[in-house]
Amino acid sequence: QAKSPVLEIENLTADYNGNRALTVNRLALHEQELMGVVGANGAGKSTLVGAILNWSRGAPRVSGRVVLDGEDLSRLDTTQRVKKGLLLIPESQLIFHTMSVADNLAHHASEAEAAGRHIYSLNDIYDLFPNLANRREHLGGQLSGGERQMLGIARALRLAPRVLLLDEPSIGLAPKLVSTVLKTIRQLADNGLTVLLIEQNVKAAIEVVDKVALIERGRILAEGTATEMRDDPRIAEAYLGGQ
Ligand code: ATP
Repeated sequence: QAKSPVLEIENLTADYNGNRALTVNRLALHEQELMGVVGANGAGKSTLVGAILNWSRGAPRVSGRVVLDGEDLSRLDTTQRVKKGLLLIPESQLIFHTMSVADNLAHHASEAEAAGRHIYSLNDIYDLFPNLANRREHLGGQLSGGERQMLGIARALRLAPRVLLLDEPSIGLAPKLVSTVLKTIRQLADNGLTVLLIEQNVKAAIEVVDKVALIERGRILAEGTATEMRDDPRIAEAYLGGQ
């Protein structure tokens, strides 16, 4: 029998001022899976992760079901969903620029908050991100773009995520750093984390993910394993749109 998904989304919709921007009938994420959500500018990727957390700057009207480990979170607000372990790292990263790396990483989930989820210690973090270890006394604002992305991810890990949602971690990075960041995300999944990765860089994403969901005009147009999707002509089209 197939294992039940960690995160399950059903009939999720989001409207901005009465205009529907998202319609997802079903999306399921399984244990230790790294799923990439790809699509062109404005396809609805950020709206999707925002709707999963009930969080968005534009405050769209969201409806539908979000189920984590069998528990329906649909009535919970963003803070309560974060406490359940749904951790989002937005494009803007949410790091503190005037605090040291070490201070950025000081806040962590307690045993009670983590409720059986893996708590990443500072040592775990510095093992995963040696660059951050070397720069622990530097201010967040002094870091390079790639290091800031790593710090954003590391801050989320300290809060013991059950599922990590990443919104375009490669944005604005030089190509070499893109692959470093994506490889680190792959490593996190290999170490047991379940990850939903929003990525406009389809070509780079498809090299590291297990599954791909292609989103277009707010709908999931195609979904499959990275191997299946690599040669899908619809993905090829998205390449052209996304590079
Ligand atoms: P990008 O990669 O450019 O961020 P995206 O795939 O994340 O694109 P969204 O930002 O989710 O796309 O946008 C999806 C649709 O919703 C677009 O048509 C966009 O114009 C619309 N939209 C997004 N935010 C708002 C808002 N605050 N108010 C009105 N419409 C919005």
